[in-house]
Amino acid sequence: MTHPVQIFNTMSRRLETFTPLHADAVGMYTCGPTVYNFAHIGNFRAYVFEDFLRRTLAYCGYNVTQVMNLTDVDDKTIRDSIAAQKPLREYTQKFKDAFFEDLKSLHVQPAEFYPAATDHIPEMIQLIQTLMDKGVAYQAEDKCIYFSISKFPGYGKLAHIDLDNQRAGVRIATDEYEKDFFGDFALWKAWDEKDGDVYWESPWGRGRPGWHIECSAMSQKYLGKTFDIHTGGVDNMFPHHEDEIAQSEAANGCKFVNYWMHNEHLIVNGTKMSKSLGNFYTVRELLNKGFSGPEIRWVLLGAHYRKKLNFSLELLEKARETLRRFTDFFDRLREQKSSTPSDAEVVQLLEKAQTTFTDAIADDLNVSEALAVIYGLFTEFNKRMDAGTLGAEDAQKVLNLFKDFDRVFAVFNPDASAKSDVPSEIQALADERQVARKSKDFKRADELRDELKNLGWVVEDTPKGIRIKPL
Ligand code: AMP
Ligand code: ZN
Repeated sequence: MTHPVQIFNTMSRRLETFTPLHADAVGMYTCGPTVYNFAHIGNFRAYVFEDFLRRTLAYCGYNVTQVMNLTDVDDKTIRDSIAAQKPLREYTQKFKDAFFEDLKSLHVQPAEFYPAATDHIPEMIQLIQTLMDKGVAYQAEDKCIYFSISKFPGYGKLAHIDLDNQRAGVRIATDEYEKDFFGDFALWKAWDEKDGDVYWESPWGRGRPGWHIECSAMSQKYLGKTFDIHTGGVDNMFPHHEDEIAQSEAANGCKFVNYWMHNEHLIVNGTKMSKSLGNFYTVRELLNKGFSGPEIRWVLLGAHYRKKLNFSLELLEKARETLRRFTDFFDRLREQKSSTPSDAEVVQLLEKAQTTFTDAIADDLNVSEALAVIYGLFTEFNKRMDAGTLGAEDAQKVLNLFKDFDRVFAVFNPDASAKSDVPSEIQALADERQVARKSKDFKRADELRDELKNLGWVVEDTPKGIRIKPL
């Protein structure tokens, strides 16, 4: 049994009831990272949103097949690998590995497929050949192959571009460009010296694929010519997704994607977090500052995916405090020992909470309503524990419900105790650090903190004393 889900479809700019192509099986394509550097937490807002979507669909009874591509050849990866004097493959591998580590830190469930662009060049050449055969692509004087947007009547339907304003003969070879500069875009880029030793042979000479064709070729291979959901950040809508639609629909003669979903940006002081502006944090930078993956995830999930989210370190501090209060709440629930029989009112309350939670996330991922349910339970059951009216059996039911919510939120980990067992040698180092701090020997205290970190532990100072946690 599946629970009905509402999705805001960027194509129609409306909320729609989600109907997958095949019963309860969902095919979902999520544009992945360009692996030329460490992804920043703005990028991870997109990946965490997609994870929340994937988990919501699973929670609602769907079977999700997710594909996330790795763009390991494009203008930026080539530019930076040459600057680093490293072969492209070696250069991008480091950032692929880092990306998967970061996903794990943020409790992002693995996708079913992570195809890399460089492993799918024949599929891309094949797709370009089909477009050539159909007369919608052509080779220009610069030897590059371009998609002729005037041959595809639907061009502009996602980003709402008026094709009447098209300036005839405009060609764009770069992977990224603005909405005002649209024109025929590159499918295959002829080799030039800027590409160094990066090229593949093709029927049109040496070269490499454009960025957009990667996603058309790989989504088709793993999900079919038509599939259910395609996601990405709002900046991917144009030109990237518009061009994917043009390529796939012109080649296959059928609808490419049924539901388009785009997340808004993570911003800093009103401006998009981006690599080029330098106003970004990577996940590893924040972990090094002592924040945890779930704390970062909590912040990224804090606003609805279609609203801008203003990032600050204070938000992370707040997340830490909030999650700590939840951990204490779970400890307290576990400590309820009274054998009072289960209370029908509690059972009813929990059932209602679960229904409201499900309806909220199924309503285009209404995170604030889902959080209202979560905070409501927190307040209600703390009150009952204060009054001493909660029995052990019902306390366990509350814990179970939080475990259930964590299938989607993946931040609470209600089984982990704030008082989890700390090995004695770790405890000894932490105690030594406390002594050093008390005697104002901060150098020694910092050394001990680093030593603990190397051993995989962090020490946090809380109003109730120190807390030692695995990293
Ligand atoms: P890129 O590696 O630039 O292709 O970006 C990877 C993903 O992150 C894409 O879905 C982008 O739309 C998304 N993205 C980039 N910057 C941000 C940001 N500041 N906030 C949210 N999503 C972003
Ligand atoms: Zn893509």
